[in-house]
Amino acid sequence: MARIYTLANQKGGVGKTTCAINLGAYLGYYGQRVLLVDLDPQANATSSLGIDKKTVKSGTYEVLIGANPVGPQILHNPKLKISVLPSSPALAGAEIELIEMANREQRLKDALAPVMDRYDYILIDCPPSLSLLTINGLIAGRNGVLIPVQCEYLALEGLGQLTQTLTRVRTSLFPNLQVRGVILTMYDGRTRLAMDVVGEVKKYFPEKVFQTIIPRSIRLAEAPSYGQPISLYAPDSTAARSYAALARELLEQDGIHIPVFSEEG
Ligand code: ADP
Ligand code: MG
Repeated sequence: MARIYTLANQKGGVGKTTCAINLGAYLGYYGQRVLLVDLDPQANATSSLGIDKKTVKSGTYEVLIGANPVGPQILHNPKLKISVLPSSPALAGAEIELIEMANREQRLKDALAPVMDRYDYILIDCPPSLSLLTINGLIAGRNGVLIPVQCEYLALEGLGQLTQTLTRVRTSLFPNLQVRGVILTMYDGRTRLAMDVVGEVKKYFPEKVFQTIIPRSIRLAEAPSYGQPISLYAPDSTAARSYAALARELLEQDGIHIPVFSEEG
């Protein structure tokens, strides 16, 4: 049964989508069957994997409101080693439609149930808000939340609000909701500030911060316009190595043995 992790932080531009794609691609590289669920109406994850959101006839929106059962919408590109349940601009309307629906907070969880056995990992990429869509993401993420935090000025800003939302969801709907881990992103080792932020975040989330830190890298910013994860776009870059290391760290914590690759000679 798939482990489901949700990438959430209501702050935009902290690296949620970049982590979902590249962590996902490396989990795939290490032999895991990975599904990325694009839960953001902006459909950045969908576009970053080379899919034109305007061509998406059925995706996360249809699955969430129950118009279509999950399955046929999932797109797979074996070269990318990751499957995606694509988003489309229609998802923006879901926010309002969901309000009237039964089980409005649990629809994504229920909708994904039929494909749980097809994957080892399901990563849910949330929009930059604490909306009903994100709540659906948090509740569907049965194995916890991955919180990307940018190593920049005001990094901790808004984390209190996120923590409060997690507490609310725990009390009302999902007592076992946990922070699975905090991913530090866009680290610039030349600045004193970046180092300070690492310290602050570790204090704020004791024991939760992944050892692997994602550096700031122009390659990571370029890859989406080529529709590729960093594992394909620039596999020898420092950024690629950091996402590979993050995937190994997660796998190791999850108790999953990584097959050792050997050169063919
Ligand atoms: P979010 O999903 O949280 O809004 P994104 O993953 O879309 O954030 O990242 C915001 C922007 O920063 C994107 O343009 C992305 O390409 C870029 N980016 C993400 N991670 C890095 C990084 N480590 N170094 C440089 N640019 C990055
Ligand atoms: Mg995003």
